[in-house]
Amino acid sequence: TPERAKKPKWLRVKLPVGKKYTELRGLVDKYKLNTICTSGSCPNMGECWGEGTATFMILGNICTRSCGFCGVKTGRPDTVEWDEPEKVARSIKLMNIKHAVITSVDRDDLKDGGSIIWSETVQAIRRANPNTTLETLIPDFQGNEKLLDRIIDVAPEVVSHNMETVRRLTREVRIQAKYDRSLGVLKYLKDNGMRTKSGIMLGLGETEDEVIQTMKDLRGVGLDIITIGQYLQPSKKHLPVKEFITPEQFKKYETLGLEMGFMYVESGALVRSSYKAHKHAS
Ligand code: SF4
Ligand code: SF4
Repeated sequence: TPERAKKPKWLRVKLPVGKKYTELRGLVDKYKLNTICTSGSCPNMGECWGEGTATFMILGNICTRSCGFCGVKTGRPDTVEWDEPEKVARSIKLMNIKHAVITSVDRDDLKDGGSIIWSETVQAIRRANPNTTLETLIPDFQGNEKLLDRIIDVAPEVVSHNMETVRRLTREVRIQAKYDRSLGVLKYLKDNGMRTKSGIMLGLGETEDEVIQTMKDLRGVGLDIITIGQYLQPSKKHLPVKEFITPEQFKKYETLGLEMGFMYVESGALVRSSYKAHKHAS
């Protein structure tokens, strides 16, 4: 079997630096705040935190799904903590976050899919941080429109739902999800006035044509913002990296995306779905 592919130089992590980063790092460690930025050791922490953007995960750390690319644990999730919305709101205030991205594990075990905690979290953040803009990176809620309405009702500045990959690889990459269901979720959000966003990862064995088709499918449901990044394997148990996409290829997708009419295209090796997220809210 081949060794794990060696990372090319453009994937070398940018070391987080800066006063704001150091301050936030101190707060997060002191109060044990739950950010994806630290738990996923994201390479963009210096940049995002410097700009006052951070990503928070709600509804626990254990997911009912088992996507082949994802580092989150699968299993029986934690019980719902009803004071979680207030805790997240307080963290955002403490960290003085200007733009917060909220995401969650999938809670297929709950009747409401976690949508009530989602809605209460957005409302608690608004109360405590009236000037903070919000992006909610939501699960598919199994395509249930009543549950999606709970997100639409609280009107985050941006609502995102990630496609993650092209149609052909969806089964392999996120077994419990469906390509058309995710497109349907994004369409429903757009039809109800939301600014919508989605992300895909490259390097899982997709072809250029398939990437372009996915971009077209997303434009077809009125998507506003797309992020395109390099897949990296969280551990040996996860799907292998088939290919490292070159900076030139990422640039090509960016140009194509802008021609297709997306409002924003973030395309680059280190792009994560919440990278430069503050921009997308204004
Ligand atoms: Fe945090 Fe997302 Fe920025 Fe990474 S890209 S530091 S996870 S906000
Ligand atoms: Fe990870 Fe989300 Fe898939 Fe759960 S649904 S395994 S959190 S990507």
